[in-house]
Amino acid sequence: MTYIIVSPCVDVRDGACVDVCPVDCIYSNPEDNMLYINPEECIDCAACEPVCPVTAIFPEDQVPENEQSFIALNYDYDYDSSEPGDNK
Ligand code: SF4
Ligand code: SF4
Repeated sequence: MTYIIVSPCVDVRDGACVDVCPVDCIYSNPEDNMLYINPEECIDCAACEPVCPVTAIFPEDQVPENEQSFIALNYDYDYDSSEPGDNK
């Protein structure tokens, strides 16, 4: 499984999750308005979930119904053209 970042991150993207992720699997580009978790690299450790100030991070199987579209956004994000971290 993986963790998923959903809509409350939009326009917040403060990077708190990046600071605690042990495998640097949270990615962004300067033009993004949120960050994304790479499902292929996330080790499901849950460290990021409690540090998010806006409750934007959920385990994939607990993403709220109205945030389900963000699962595909995290899976389909172009990780090859971005870098780990909060690249503002
Ligand atoms: S901690 Fe939450 S709001 Fe901040 S960048 Fe991560 S997901 Fe977005
Ligand atoms: S669950 Fe752990 S590995 Fe996955 S994004 Fe959060 S801190 Fe990183």
